[in-house]
Amino acid sequence: MVLVANILEVKGVSKRFGGVVALQDVSLSVPSQGIVGLIGPNGSGKTTLFNVVTGFYVPDKGEVWFNDGNRSERIDGLNPNEVFAKGIVRTFQIPRLFKSLTVLENLLVTPFAQKGENPLKALKPSSWIEEERALARKAVSLLRRFGLLEYANVRVSELSGAHIKLLETIRGLMTPAKLFLLDEPAAGVEAGAAHELFRLVRELRSEGYTFLIVEHRIEILMQYVDYVYVLHNGQLLAEGKPEEVTSNPKVVEAYIGG
Ligand code: ADP
Repeated sequence: MVLVANILEVKGVSKRFGGVVALQDVSLSVPSQGIVGLIGPNGSGKTTLFNVVTGFYVPDKGEVWFNDGNRSERIDGLNPNEVFAKGIVRTFQIPRLFKSLTVLENLLVTPFAQKGENPLKALKPSSWIEEERALARKAVSLLRRFGLLEYANVRVSELSGAHIKLLETIRGLMTPAKLFLLDEPAAGVEAGAAHELFRLVRELRSEGYTFLIVEHRIEILMQYVDYVYVLHNGQLLAEGKPEEVTSNPKVVEAYIGG
């Protein structure tokens, strides 16, 4: 694989909702295999930025570029499925798993081209059975690796919050995605499990994955990210290495001032 400088570039993005300016001229870049944090007080525009990058919102101004390792492509204006197909996966603050299905089943219903779903191919099982078996093997090996194998047949509704967060991330690993956008992975998770999740993120980075992470629990996030962007009132207030950002008086002020 060619080493890509930036897997994601957000250039001068603005988005307003009626009179509310949710994002104003925001630019940021995420280097390939980076772990980048996106922080800011409530209402600063973090979720809107995630929504713009993942195709849920079209920006009023600006561009979003994604580089899959082969070429750079403009992705603003694509719909969420198209963005996902390019190789960007997103987890939600409130995980979007199928609660009545088991852990294993949730990994097997990841929404990407499974040949058995194609009505013509479905008539010819030999064309997809091997693919389905390979997916099942991959799911089992991920569950084993992340310590969830014993829960494979447990319904998601019976899992702990920490395991649900972990499962959502594992679900992303079932897809060919290379860029993960994590929305508050540590929310509602006790500190030990949150650190474990971030250690996993570090490990996955060394395997070629890239992360952009929104997180309120800054004290945990800062131990794992290489670089941080701070949003405030829809604008970029600061950026830099974790220690630069946490010692920046403007950032402290924004958090205290709300
Ligand atoms: P954060 O994720 O940092 O808490 P958001 O991106 O959710 O911030 O919100 C940024 C601003 O945009 C807030 O003032 C919020 O009320 C507003 N906003 C976000 N989404 C919408 C929407 N769909 N309609 C109207 N206003 C919105």
